[in-house]
Parts: sequence; C-alpha cells; structure tokens
Amino acid sequence: MINLVSISKSYRQGNENYKALHEISLTIQAGEFVAIMGPSGSGKSTLINIIGFLDNNFDGQYNFNDTVVNNLNRRDHARLRNQSVGFVFQNFKLIRNQSVGENVGLPLLYAGLKRRDIIARVNDVLEQVGLPGSYDKLPKNLSGGQQQRVAIARAIVTKPNFLVADEPTGALDSATSREIMALFKELNQHGTTVIMVTHDENVARQTNRLIKILDGRLQSDMEVEHADS
Ligand code: ADP
Ligand code: ADP
Repeated sequence: MINLVSISKSYRQGNENYKALHEISLTIQAGEFVAIMGPSGSGKSTLINIIGFLDNNFDGQYNFNDTVVNNLNRRDHARLRNQSVGFVFQNFKLIRNQSVGENVGLPLLYAGLKRRDIIARVNDVLEQVGLPGSYDKLPKNLSGGQQQRVAIARAIVTKPNFLVADEPTGALDSATSREIMALFKELNQHGTTVIMVTHDENVARQTNRLIKILDGRLQSDMEVEHADS
C-alpha cells in the first residue's frame, strides 16, 4: 500500500540546509500495525508527515497503491489525505465546545454526508471504540482515555486506508495507555492499518512491527515477537 523509495527531506535552517531524512526506503502493507521509534529530532514527525500526505515536498518517490504521490498537485494531495488517512494525536485535538458526536462527525460533514447518515455512522463508531451513547457529551466531561477514544472514533469514521497516530498514549497513564493500545490492536485485527509514533518501548512492543530511526536514517526494522496467549 505504502511504498517509499529513497525518500530524503531537507529543511532550511537559517542559511543552511539540514537533512532530516536520508534516503528512506520502506514498504507498509495494508493491515499492518507498525510502531516508529527514535529519539527526539530523529525525523519521526517528518517521516509521518510525508506518509500521511501532509508534506509533499521531498526527494525520492512515494507510491501509494497505484498513485505516485510526489507527482500530485496540492489539491489532489489534499484530497488523497482526506480520503485515505485518519490522524490521532497525543493531545486528542478535540473541539472543546462541540459534543463528542459533532467532533466525530466532522470529517463526514466535510465529506458532504447527510445529517441523518452522519448521526447513524457516528453512533456506530462510538460503539466500536467503547463509548456507546456518548454522542451528546462534552469532551471536558470525559477522562483522557475516553477523549482519546473519541479522537480515534473521529479518525476511523471515514473508513480511511490507514491511521497515523503520533504519540497517542503520550498523555495517558500506563493503565489507560494499555487500554488505548488494546483498542488499536482490536481495530487492527478488524483490518485497520495503524502506523504509530511512540517513545515508549511498552507501547511499541504491542504492535507487530518496530521501525527504529536515528538521525534521519532507518536503523532497524523488525517483526515484534509476541508470547502466545
Ligand atoms: P522527531 O519527530 O523525531 O522529533 P522531527 O521530524 O520533528 O523529529 O525533526 C527532525 C529534524 O528536523 C530535527 O532536527 C528538527 O529540528 C528538524 N526540523 C523539523 N521540522 C523542521 C522545520 N519545519 N524547519 C526546520 N527544521 C525542522
Ligand atoms: P515533535 O517532535 O512531537 O514533532 P517538535 O516540537 O519537535 O514536536 O516539532 C513541532 C513542530 O515544529 C513540527 O511541525 C516541526 O516540523 C517544527 N519544527 C521542529 N524543529 C524545528 C526547527 N528547528 N525549525 C523550525 N520548525 C521546527
């Protein structure tokens, strides 16, 4: 599904060019559950911004299914992003003065769905993330873990090809973090492709594939071993 061929990315820093990614080649198939780890400044955000169709200014080739992403104009790139990716962030990024249901339904509103269809789909997805009957609640009345479930519901509501999650457990205590990882695992087992950035070894170990990057280069890429349970 995702095929990066020798991707490099430089940023202008003052009068210098700083190379944040060095010839990254990487393939991620539909259905995978991937963690990307690396120290601060190693290029994780730069990489997932490219993968998630937020940044189309890089060297190398990005093939997404049959599309050569780096050849797309700005409008088609944005369309691909809206149709193909769901984003989950460390700090949830919910709209405070809108209900849970309005937050989750927003991508469907942008996609032009009818109100009745939006409400039905939102209620389905809220049930899927373990928050049945929460449509009319306000985010501030939910725990951190529940707010992240709302954010995950918003990310999956359009049935994207893959999720990009940037430190999704970074603001959660370890018990809540395990619950959120269990939810990602369940979504993955039902077919959702998940690409997650994390600093946390315990989080990374719950995925199926661990990619480590260091100084903008792939350091290792390995299958995660799970004890049978
Ligand atoms: P990480 O997500 O692993 O912390 P980033 O991808 O954010 O790493 O950053 C990688 C490197 O690129 C860092 O040295 C960072 O300072 C630099 N960088 C990131 N974004 C920019 C930018 N917009 N302009 C200049 N330098 C940047
Ligand atoms: P994270 O590591 O979680 O991505 P950062 O604080 O490193 O968060 O970066 C936040 C934002 O600042 C990103 O959009 C990144 O591209 C940008 N950024 C990071 N480093 C620099 C830099 N040296 N110059 C300009 N922008 C930067």
